[in-house]
Amino acid sequence: MYCPRQCALIHVEGLWDDNRHTVRGEHGHRRVDSGADRTERGHVVLRAVPLWSERLGLTGRADAIEMHPDGSVVPVEYKIGGRHGDAASVQLCAQAMCLEEMLARDVPVGFVWYSKTRRRDRIPFDTALRQRTEAVILEVRKNLEAQRLPPAVDDARCTECQLIDSCLPEVVAHPGRVARHCAELLRCGS
Ligand code: SF4
Repeated sequence: MYCPRQCALIHVEGLWDDNRHTVRGEHGHRRVDSGADRTERGHVVLRAVPLWSERLGLTGRADAIEMHPDGSVVPVEYKIGGRHGDAASVQLCAQAMCLEEMLARDVPVGFVWYSKTRRRDRIPFDTALRQRTEAVILEVRKNLEAQRLPPAVDDARCTECQLIDSCLPEVVAHPGRVARHCAELLRCGS
Protein backbone atom coordinates (compact mmCIF):
# COMPACT_ATOMS: atom_id res chain seq x y z
CA MET A 1 0.00 0.00 0.00
CA TYR A 2 2.96 2.34 0.49
CA CYS A 3 3.74 2.44 -3.23
CA PRO A 4 2.75 0.03 -6.05
CA ARG A 5 6.20 0.43 -7.61
CA GLN A 6 7.90 -0.51 -4.33
CA CYS A 7 5.72 -3.63 -4.17
CA ALA A 8 6.68 -4.63 -7.72
CA LEU A 9 10.39 -3.88 -7.17
CA ILE A 10 10.37 -6.23 -4.18
CA HIS A 11 8.05 -8.99 -5.42
CA VAL A 12 8.63 -8.88 -9.20
CA GLU A 13 12.23 -7.65 -9.48
CA GLY A 14 13.39 -9.30 -6.24
CA LEU A 15 15.06 -6.15 -4.89
CA TRP A 16 15.55 -5.41 -1.21
CA ASP A 17 17.48 -2.56 0.42
CA ASP A 18 17.40 -1.70 4.11
CA ASN A 19 16.99 1.76 5.55
CA ARG A 20 16.42 2.99 9.11
CA HIS A 21 12.70 2.10 8.93
CA THR A 22 13.24 -1.50 7.81
CA VAL A 23 16.02 -2.05 10.35
CA ARG A 24 13.91 -0.66 13.20
CA GLY A 25 10.93 -2.74 12.04
CA GLU A 26 13.01 -5.92 11.76
CA HIS A 27 14.51 -5.35 15.20
CA GLY A 28 11.08 -4.70 16.75
CA HIS A 29 9.52 -7.74 15.12
CA ARG A 30 12.37 -9.96 16.25
CA ARG A 31 11.58 -8.90 19.81
CA VAL A 32 7.84 -9.52 19.36
CA ASP A 33 8.36 -12.88 17.63
CA SER A 34 10.77 -14.08 20.32
CA GLY A 35 8.08 -13.70 22.99
CA ALA A 36 6.64 -17.01 24.18
CA ASP A 37 2.94 -17.85 24.09
CA ARG A 38 1.43 -16.94 27.46
CA THR A 39 -1.72 -16.33 29.43
CA GLU A 40 -2.55 -12.68 30.12
CA ARG A 41 -5.52 -11.43 32.13
CA GLY A 42 -7.44 -14.65 31.52
CA HIS A 43 -6.79 -15.08 27.78
CA VAL A 44 -4.11 -16.94 25.87
CA VAL A 45 -1.75 -14.91 23.64
CA LEU A 46 -0.17 -16.86 20.75
CA ARG A 47 2.90 -15.33 19.06
CA ALA A 48 4.11 -15.42 15.43
CA VAL A 49 1.09 -17.39 14.21
CA PRO A 50 1.13 -18.62 10.56
CA LEU A 51 -1.96 -17.54 8.61
CA TRP A 52 -3.39 -18.34 5.19
CA SER A 53 -6.47 -17.97 3.05
CA GLU A 54 -7.26 -20.14 0.02
CA ARG A 55 -10.02 -17.74 -1.03
CA LEU A 56 -7.82 -14.66 -0.98
CA GLY A 57 -4.58 -16.39 -1.98
CA LEU A 58 -2.73 -15.10 1.08
CA THR A 59 -0.11 -16.46 3.42
CA GLY A 60 1.52 -14.58 6.26
CA ARG A 61 2.13 -14.45 9.96
CA ALA A 62 0.33 -12.63 12.74
CA ASP A 63 2.39 -10.95 15.47
CA ALA A 64 -0.08 -12.11 18.13
CA ILE A 65 -3.48 -13.76 18.37
CA GLU A 66 -5.54 -13.47 21.56
CA MET A 67 -7.74 -16.48 22.30
CA HIS A 68 -10.44 -15.46 24.81
CA PRO A 69 -12.46 -17.81 27.05
CA ASP A 70 -15.72 -16.71 25.35
CA GLY A 71 -14.36 -18.11 22.06
CA SER A 72 -13.45 -14.77 20.51
CA VAL A 73 -10.24 -14.59 18.49
CA VAL A 74 -8.48 -11.21 18.28
CA PRO A 75 -5.44 -10.46 16.05
CA VAL A 76 -2.93 -7.90 17.33
CA GLU A 77 -0.35 -6.21 15.09
CA TYR A 78 2.69 -4.46 16.60
CA LYS A 79 4.03 -1.34 14.88
CA ILE A 80 7.27 0.47 15.54
CA GLY A 81 6.62 4.23 15.64
CA GLY A 82 3.26 5.97 15.46
CA ARG A 83 0.09 5.82 13.43
CA HIS A 84 0.68 6.27 9.70
CA GLY A 85 -2.18 5.95 7.22
CA ASP A 86 -4.56 3.02 7.08
CA ALA A 87 -2.10 0.32 5.92
CA ALA A 88 -1.99 -1.27 9.38
CA SER A 89 -5.80 -1.54 9.45
CA VAL A 90 -5.82 -3.23 6.05
CA GLN A 91 -3.00 -5.59 7.09
CA LEU A 92 -4.87 -6.53 10.27
CA CYS A 93 -8.14 -6.98 8.39
CA ALA A 94 -6.39 -9.40 5.98
CA GLN A 95 -5.19 -11.35 9.04
CA ALA A 96 -8.75 -11.45 10.38
CA MET A 97 -10.11 -12.75 7.09
CA CYS A 98 -7.45 -15.49 7.09
CA LEU A 99 -8.43 -16.46 10.65
CA GLU A 100 -12.11 -16.53 9.73
CA GLU A 101 -11.41 -18.98 6.91
CA MET A 102 -8.99 -21.09 8.99
CA LEU A 103 -11.19 -21.31 12.10
CA ALA A 104 -14.65 -20.96 10.51
CA ARG A 105 -15.66 -18.27 12.96
CA ASP A 106 -16.24 -14.53 12.88
CA VAL A 107 -13.36 -12.23 13.78
CA PRO A 108 -15.02 -8.83 14.13
CA VAL A 109 -12.28 -6.77 15.79
CA GLY A 110 -8.50 -6.51 16.27
CA PHE A 111 -5.89 -4.12 17.67
CA VAL A 112 -2.82 -2.31 16.36
CA TRP A 113 -0.25 -1.51 19.06
CA TYR A 114 2.07 1.47 18.43
CA SER A 115 5.47 1.66 20.14
CA LYS A 116 5.52 5.48 20.03
CA THR A 117 2.38 5.95 22.12
CA ARG A 118 2.54 2.51 23.77
CA ARG A 119 -1.20 2.31 23.20
CA ARG A 120 -3.32 0.16 20.96
CA ASP A 121 -6.03 1.20 18.51
CA ARG A 122 -9.19 -0.88 18.30
CA ILE A 123 -9.91 -1.75 14.65
CA PRO A 124 -13.45 -2.99 13.85
CA PHE A 125 -13.51 -5.05 10.67
CA ASP A 126 -16.54 -3.38 9.10
CA THR A 127 -17.78 -3.82 5.54
CA ALA A 128 -15.89 -0.78 4.24
CA LEU A 129 -12.54 -2.01 5.62
CA ARG A 130 -13.15 -5.54 4.32
CA GLN A 131 -13.95 -4.19 0.85
CA ARG A 132 -10.87 -1.94 0.92
CA THR A 133 -8.69 -4.88 1.98
CA GLU A 134 -9.98 -7.13 -0.80
CA ALA A 135 -9.48 -4.30 -3.32
CA VAL A 136 -5.84 -3.92 -2.22
CA ILE A 137 -5.26 -7.69 -2.48
CA LEU A 138 -6.76 -7.76 -6.00
CA GLU A 139 -4.72 -4.75 -7.10
CA VAL A 140 -1.47 -6.27 -5.83
CA ARG A 141 -2.25 -9.61 -7.46
CA LYS A 142 -3.05 -7.90 -10.77
CA ASN A 143 0.30 -6.07 -10.73
CA LEU A 144 2.25 -9.18 -9.76
CA GLU A 145 0.59 -11.33 -12.42
CA ALA A 146 1.26 -8.66 -15.05
CA GLN A 147 4.94 -8.62 -13.96
CA ARG A 148 4.66 -4.88 -14.55
CA LEU A 149 6.66 -2.14 -12.91
CA PRO A 150 4.26 0.75 -12.13
CA PRO A 151 5.49 4.33 -12.65
CA ALA A 152 7.38 6.09 -9.86
CA VAL A 153 5.15 8.15 -7.57
CA ASP A 154 7.99 10.67 -7.06
CA ASP A 155 6.42 12.35 -4.03
CA ALA A 156 7.09 12.67 -0.29
CA ARG A 157 6.95 8.87 0.09
CA CYS A 158 10.20 8.51 -1.86
CA THR A 159 12.43 10.25 0.70
CA GLU A 160 11.46 7.64 3.32
CA CYS A 161 11.46 4.68 0.91
CA GLN A 162 13.94 1.84 1.43
CA LEU A 163 14.31 1.44 -2.34
CA ILE A 164 15.01 5.03 -3.38
CA ASP A 165 18.55 4.21 -4.55
CA SER A 166 17.38 1.27 -6.66
CA CYS A 167 14.23 2.96 -7.95
CA LEU A 168 15.72 6.37 -8.85
CA PRO A 169 12.25 8.00 -8.89
CA GLU A 170 13.44 11.39 -10.17
CA VAL A 171 15.17 9.77 -13.12
CA VAL A 172 12.30 7.52 -14.18
CA ALA A 173 9.56 10.08 -13.49
CA HIS A 174 11.33 13.01 -15.22
CA PRO A 175 13.69 11.64 -17.87
CA GLY A 176 13.60 14.96 -19.76
CA ARG A 177 14.70 16.91 -16.70
CA VAL A 178 17.62 14.54 -16.11
CA ALA A 179 18.65 14.70 -19.78
CA ARG A 180 18.67 18.53 -19.56
CA HIS A 181 20.84 18.43 -16.42
CA CYS A 182 23.27 16.03 -18.13
CA ALA A 183 23.44 18.27 -21.21
CA GLU A 184 24.18 21.31 -18.97
CA LEU A 185 26.89 19.38 -17.15
CA LEU A 186 28.47 18.34 -20.43
CA ARG A 187 28.34 21.97 -21.68
CA CYS A 188 30.00 23.20 -18.45
CA GLY A 189 32.71 20.55 -18.78
CA SER A 190 33.54 21.30 -22.42
S1 SF4 B 1 11.38 5.55 -4.36
FE1 SF4 B 1 9.28 6.36 -4.53
S2 SF4 B 1 8.48 5.56 -6.49
FE2 SF4 B 1 10.31 4.38 -5.95
S3 SF4 B 1 9.52 2.60 -4.92
FE3 SF4 B 1 10.02 4.11 -3.34
S4 SF4 B 1 8.14 5.25 -2.96
FE4 SF4 B 1 7.88 4.13 -4.87
